[in-house]
Amino acid sequence: MNSENKILSDFWNILNLTKDYLTTGSMNNHSELKITTDSLEKIEEEISICTKCKLCETRTKTVPGEGSKVPLLMIIGEGPGADEDKTGNPFVGKAGKYMDKWMDAINLVREEDLFLANIVKCRPPGNRDPLPEEISACLPFLERQIKLLNPGLILSVGRISSQVLTGLSDGIGRLRGKTYKYKDVTLIPTYHPSGVLRNPEEYRKPVWEDLKRVRDFLDDNYTE
Ligand code: URA
Repeated sequence: MNSENKILSDFWNILNLTKDYLTTGSMNNHSELKITTDSLEKIEEEISICTKCKLCETRTKTVPGEGSKVPLLMIIGEGPGADEDKTGNPFVGKAGKYMDKWMDAINLVREEDLFLANIVKCRPPGNRDPLPEEISACLPFLERQIKLLNPGLILSVGRISSQVLTGLSDGIGRLRGKTYKYKDVTLIPTYHPSGVLRNPEEYRKPVWEDLKRVRDFLDDNYTE
């Protein structure tokens, strides 16, 4: 059921329930009525005990993601690395610290403007790519986070998150430089900060172009 149908169905159930209560004084006829509200805390709790894929066997901590609850920008990476696995926080290692500089350069503040998350919430051993079955087991968590956060814009960093969110199989060099939609949210892909750290000569300039695109989009759509 999509979200509009769910709202309609909940609304219809409530109307029936109210009618029954007013006419019979009882609400017992509608035991099927279930109004569920999702929350970031609920998702985090589910992630913390998740055993849907084998990554749960090797993780130290789950890394659900964190940041503003009303983010201008949601940054989505591939999966936790060693530092994130140790702390439970996203993008706190070398790549994350470098990405903080990107955000400084476009006047975005981590705690105020951003929500940081990953495609998979547990570290793939040795930083290998997450497997397709790990991605599909974990993706519903991210989808729920995006739905609740409704960010102004998504920046996907690296090949894996850009492919997953665009639904395309091109390499990141082809995906970047354009704007896409993930559901209703505008999506801009760029290189992963760890790739840029490895090869700054090649990737710094295109990343800067992508970051300017991010800033321009936010200026055009979210500044008074
Ligand atoms: N790389 C990612 O893709 N995500 C993190 O959280 C850290 C490093």
